[in-house]
Amino acid sequence: MNRRNLLKMAGGAAATLAARDAAAQERTARAVRGLPSPKIKDVQVIQTAPAGLRLPVVKILTDQDGLYGYGCACFTQRADLVVPAVERYLRPLLIGKSADRIDDLWQAMYNSSYWRNGPVLNNAISGVDQALWDIKGRQASLPVYQLLGGKVREAADCYAHASGGEIQECVDQAKQWMERGFRHVRVQVGVPGMAGYGAGTRGAATAAKALHSGQVFEPAAYIRRALKLFEECRKQLGDDIELCHDVHERITPTQAVQMCKDVEKFKLFFFEDPLSPEDIAWFRLIRNACTTPIAMGELFNSPHEWSPLISERLIDFMRMHVSQMGGLTPARKVAIMGEHYGVRTAWHGPGDVSPIGHMANVTLDVVSYNFGVQEYSPFNERLQEVFDGCPEQKDGYLWVSEKPGWGIEVNEAAAKKYPFGGNDRGERGRLNGGWGEVRKRDGQIIKQ
Ligand SMILES: [Mg+2]
Repeated sequence: MNRRNLLKMAGGAAATLAARDAAAQERTARAVRGLPSPKIKDVQVIQTAPAGLRLPVVKILTDQDGLYGYGCACFTQRADLVVPAVERYLRPLLIGKSADRIDDLWQAMYNSSYWRNGPVLNNAISGVDQALWDIKGRQASLPVYQLLGGKVREAADCYAHASGGEIQECVDQAKQWMERGFRHVRVQVGVPGMAGYGAGTRGAATAAKALHSGQVFEPAAYIRRALKLFEECRKQLGDDIELCHDVHERITPTQAVQMCKDVEKFKLFFFEDPLSPEDIAWFRLIRNACTTPIAMGELFNSPHEWSPLISERLIDFMRMHVSQMGGLTPARKVAIMGEHYGVRTAWHGPGDVSPIGHMANVTLDVVSYNFGVQEYSPFNERLQEVFDGCPEQKDGYLWVSEKPGWGIEVNEAAAKKYPFGGNDRGERGRLNGGWGEVRKRDGQIIKQ
């Protein structure tokens, strides 16, 4: 073979390789819709309170026309502080960066303040994090759950709230949820003359005598009342319904251990927040004393708080508020950690989570093998007017959207109709969206 032929062959091979490369590049381009990596053009905060609770939602715009995303940054009690945390501190850090690198941007935001793991900054980070996941989903034309590996279940079994000033009122509400198909109900009852968590305050006519004129709460009276409620629930509702209850950290650690033992016979699905985050060392005593399943975590900010409880198997359900912990990225990581230790998820899902945050919750629910249950709060008409595409509930199951990203569009004109503060009146308004003060008879303030 002469030199000319050799060169000709080499040229042919190179041409084949170049053609293969071109084909591979074309396939990749097709897979990502031929778009270059989107750059962050602007970071905004939508401030809206359609159902009275203040819901800050982050919107990220990219340099690609029509490609944007939304994220939940809902710290309703201090919502107005989340806004400058996003606009003054995260926005300058993010403009011009690639929207593709979600974990990298999360770490950059998290470390940018040096002091970290607080509710304001974590919620601000969550708004950005979830908006970036929304963008990635929209870019790929896939719902976010597909980007996390796809479903391991069809929908999320959820629990509804039943409550009442009187025990019978609460039992009747539980029956109504059961008739609507719910298999899990959280039950809360008021305490005569006192402020009962999740069941309001009983009328002034029956107000407990106290050394102050505000709301009164006494742990022992609450415990006696709650035990009667569970007894009546089992009598009237039977054994098939899964019952949950939230103590809301209002009792002493020893009372918590005792109460966990006392409720064991009612076989609750979970018993929530018997201890406050300040008292987590007491969980070991509860574990040694009984088998009541414990749910904990909505007040946690930091991995340092939940990691020991999971690795030592001291709780059964993790209840973190996904925006409070910094968004979908850290929530997915801890959900997987929980799977290795047999701890299940029960993400916080009351009305102070935006529908974007609820969609992030249900996304985690359908992709996590160790899902336990999802807290459900109905979306009223005004919420649905602002957030087009809220997760749908049917027969006690919550369904994730099949549309790209979170599948939710925010109607920004409608959002403006319900500004922050519009529904915050009286004590709630004075406390900047927080709850009123509750004190023991002698005037000592209690943890909420
Ligand atoms: Mg709770």
